[in-house]
Amino acid sequence: KINFAAGPAKLPEEVLLKMQEEQLNYAGLGLSVIEMSHRSKEFGALLNETITLIRELMNIPENFEVLFMQGGGTGQFAAIPLNLKGNHDHADYIVTGAWSAKAAEEAAKYINVKKVFTPSKPYVTVPDQEKWVHDENASYLYYCANETVHGIEFTPTAPESHNVPLVADVSSNFLARPFDFKDHGIVFGGTQKNLGAAGLTIVIVRKDLIGKEQAITPAVFSYKEMIANNSLYNTPPTGGIYTTNLVLKWIKEKGGVEAIYATNLAKSGLIYSIIDESNGFYHCAVDKRYRSIMNVCFRIDGGNEKLEAEFLEGATKRNMINLKGHRSVGGIRASLYNAISLEETQVLADWMIEFKKTHQQ
Ligand code: PLP
Repeated sequence: KINFAAGPAKLPEEVLLKMQEEQLNYAGLGLSVIEMSHRSKEFGALLNETITLIRELMNIPENFEVLFMQGGGTGQFAAIPLNLKGNHDHADYIVTGAWSAKAAEEAAKYINVKKVFTPSKPYVTVPDQEKWVHDENASYLYYCANETVHGIEFTPTAPESHNVPLVADVSSNFLARPFDFKDHGIVFGGTQKNLGAAGLTIVIVRKDLIGKEQAITPAVFSYKEMIANNSLYNTPPTGGIYTTNLVLKWIKEKGGVEAIYATNLAKSGLIYSIIDESNGFYHCAVDKRYRSIMNVCFRIDGGNEKLEAEFLEGATKRNMINLKGHRSVGGIRASLYNAISLEETQVLADWMIEFKKTHQQ
């Protein structure tokens, strides 16, 4: 099957085979990683290697720490204000879709949230930055680098920081393209889309922001506590760290993030070009400047649900699964994460062309 799911999502076959190979006997120890003590020498080596790999592949500057946490991206929606509030009264939020909206809502429990513009629905763009209302006294400026539900990606650069640390949710475009840490304070994401399995959340934190947490911050959400314990404050998601370790090695073998990015551009470009050349049969509502290279969302025949259901059924028959759009948006969503190859994307492209031929009036 070709799994176009939005997350948890497809893993590279090489990674799955390696896991299978090592299942009963990891590194000659006679057991699998998920059975090992998180305090063992071997697991410690695996954890440190994983940090080194992500540092190298993402080109993470020295003044950032890499933390392995739990609670998903959603856990960070709370952890971020809990850790960063300091003496500030509020944080600024850029709301461009469902995930940044959810982050702002959760953060409001722990800090005053100000939105730099009034979000307008349906979410289809990043509104003009010139008109945003910023506050240099904000604790941080939050944005979602890729809105998974709506298929909106901040490109080509991050928002202007206005002298406050940027906080980026990269859950759905982690290592999908080169990332510039300039002006950032926190970059975080769950690993279940581009980097492995559900359960591990990677949080990359600028060192000077550590230690400002609110007194009520749970220890497992405290960046200070996590750093002091090299992410071993409590039992970490050992299986998740192992899976991510293998995915990172796979990315490295593929030529690193630049090579992955080139393939991602080719994949998404292929699907968007079919949409754009379909005379409206396929339609992507997202502003072309901010179209996601990861989650390609489109409607068929102006949102004809019957045709969309037929398209999905035909896709399933051709071994393509999980192409249904998010329930709040409808239509089709093809998630083209790193593990989806150009050849697999071509299968979808061929089906789109065939379907259009037989169904366009
Ligand atoms: N942020 C983005 C961009 C997401 O796509 C998701 C989940 O799909 C989340 C956050 C929430 O992540 P989790 O389910 O790991 O809490």
